[in-house]
Amino acid sequence: MRVDVLTLFPEMFVGVTNSSILRRAREQKLLEVCLTDIRDFALDKHRVVDDYPFGGGAGMVMKPEPVVAAVESVVERAKADGFGESRVILMSPQGTVLTQARASALSSLQHLVLICGHYEGIDHRVMQLVVHEEISVGDYVLTGGELPAMVVMDCVARLLPGVLGCAESTAEESFASEPVLEYPQYTRPREFRGLPVPEVLLSGNHREIGRWRRGHSLRRTLEKRPELPQRELSRYDRECLALANGDSPHFYSLRKEGF
Ligand code: SAM
Repeated sequence: MRVDVLTLFPEMFVGVTNSSILRRAREQKLLEVCLTDIRDFALDKHRVVDDYPFGGGAGMVMKPEPVVAAVESVVERAKADGFGESRVILMSPQGTVLTQARASALSSLQHLVLICGHYEGIDHRVMQLVVHEEISVGDYVLTGGELPAMVVMDCVARLLPGVLGCAESTAEESFASEPVLEYPQYTRPREFRGLPVPEVLLSGNHREIGRWRRGHSLRRTLEKRPELPQRELSRYDRECLALANGDSPHFYSLRKEGF
């Protein structure tokens, strides 16, 4: 996959793309990250990319010409390099909030173009002309689209086949295949400050470990994220949940309200 990032601050991406999973994905040639400075597409010698908003009001707006020219340039280059269709995404607090399911769908594409806005945002005609979708990272406003673009890139890159090893598999993670959180994780020592690791996890009985994990996943989801869509529980799920419930008497009442 190639990810083209269009930004006024390409230097912000250096640390992130040279560390951890993104670095590994790039080294394995599973991910190519191309940074484009939108100012390189400004039309004047002062490289101006913003202007006052028509109609007045606070702040500046990113001009359409440099952004559209930058998008067209990277799409053209991707086409010439043999990448499939390009998906042009504007980072925007007004977009659809990113989900694991959306990241998973994006991970099957070959070319993403992430546009990072700044100031009061980007001239609306950019959306009309070249943007396929707007993605938000949450209902709050950041200074620019760079951090959201990094979030999208990281979330998508770790889903590319081969990027994560078996040990880091995404299969059992929160939100992996359903809106359910991951079970509690433990590592050594077996006891820390008086808190022991649950006995079943030390038992080597994988069937029981599976039941414990499923039950605690469901329980956690209900306790921490009751607003997540809930579905009918299977018999197995109900059994696991009842097991997990053994740890917390108040859970029955929660369960009646939710699952
Ligand atoms: N005036 C805009 C509004 O009210 O919708 C907010 C502009 S914001 C200060 C500047 C840029 O940061 C946006 O164009 C967008 O690219 C990015 N941005 C800010 N918050 C974001 C979020 N929650 N998700 C994605 N992008 C965001």
